Amino acid sequence: LNREEPHYFGAGPAALPTDVLQEAAYDLISYQGDAVGIGEISHRSKPAIKVIDDTKANLSQLLNIPDTHEVFFMQGGGTTGFSSIVYNLIANYAKRHGGKVGRAAYAVTGSWSKKSSEEAQRLGFEVDIVVNTKDKKFGDIPPYSEWKPIAKDTAFLYICDNETVNGNEFKDVPSEEYLPEGVELVADMSSNILSKKLDISKYGLIMAGAQKNIGLAGLTIYIIKKSLLEQPTDDELKSYGIPLSPIAFHYPTVVKNNSAYNTIPIFTCHILQLVTKRLIDNGGVAAIQKINEEKAKILYDALTSFPGFYSLPVHNPAVRSNMNVVFTLPNEELEAKFIKEAAELKLTGLKGHRSVGGMRASIYNAVTLDSVKILVDFVTKFAKENSK
Ligand code: PLP
Repeated sequence: LNREEPHYFGAGPAALPTDVLQEAAYDLISYQGDAVGIGEISHRSKPAIKVIDDTKANLSQLLNIPDTHEVFFMQGGGTTGFSSIVYNLIANYAKRHGGKVGRAAYAVTGSWSKKSSEEAQRLGFEVDIVVNTKDKKFGDIPPYSEWKPIAKDTAFLYICDNETVNGNEFKDVPSEEYLPEGVELVADMSSNILSKKLDISKYGLIMAGAQKNIGLAGLTIYIIKKSLLEQPTDDELKSYGIPLSPIAFHYPTVVKNNSAYNTIPIFTCHILQLVTKRLIDNGGVAAIQKINEEKAKILYDALTSFPGFYSLPVHNPAVRSNMNVVFTLPNEELEAKFIKEAAELKLTGLKGHRSVGGMRASIYNAVTLDSVKILVDFVTKFAKENSK
């Protein structure tokens, strides 16, 4: 099984390393010499449990996850996380505060954090939007000093660390002056997990759908502070007026069952196991971060060399995403021409999200520096040939 190395810049599901897919394809037919493949065995069998445990161990090693935190997996994607996070963390807040119903603070810096805040509201929770950059087309992330103060009784502050559609990314965590003690930081890292080093101790919870930077759809990674797994009983929650989370989303139950309370998509987990193993073998997160920074730098440098031709909706360079590079051209005809000529060079997946338009080059971990260099050459040549 082989394929030509793709230059694929799709935003998600996204490119994966060919060697991982080759190995996984064999495992799908026959796992470790068995008569059946990895997707056909029981999720409670020994080999499946080993896949889960090894994947957790790889993530712990790569992200230096301290003993205070636990890794687990759930079915569903980022959107499932939008719902499950608020149920679980409000329940935990009640446990820590004698049955008090906490509030949730959301930073709306792009379409995914907006969706997540809307889901928390839809489910009936009290939500404060502490910053909202929609009117400025999500072109910046203002400094914390400009955000609304966090209200009393707030359980957590939610951010989307990398806004996949809009192309902005947090380069630091909210400062200690901004975030009151006891308010947990929750981050959606669906499109940048394992792209850069993190200080996990700063986070109460990290959630990431696997299908962009590190795997296939169907599995979501959670890294949670263990103390946040404590919850009141169902009867207590009812007496506090807090809704119960659906059982498949109930973090303590999922963790108690080693991520296999219900059937875990074990093939997807196996892909994550192979991707994380490969990352370890290639020098870990520090090594890929360096490559990711270089890829982003050369691409942004090329785009900003033609200011009248390429426009970057994220106008503050300090918060431009290292994963999703969003840019527009002077008109739709040129954009169509750009896509067509790029495809002739086998540069694909570049069309922007329908809500933003223009182009989006997603340069996740699996996109090589060589692919980005080919894109940079094309971007440069195209601007020279088509600007007046
Ligand atoms: N969060 C971010 C940052 C995303 O990029 C996406 C998907 O593109 C989601 C959440 C939603 O993920 P899913 O489609 O798996 O529910």
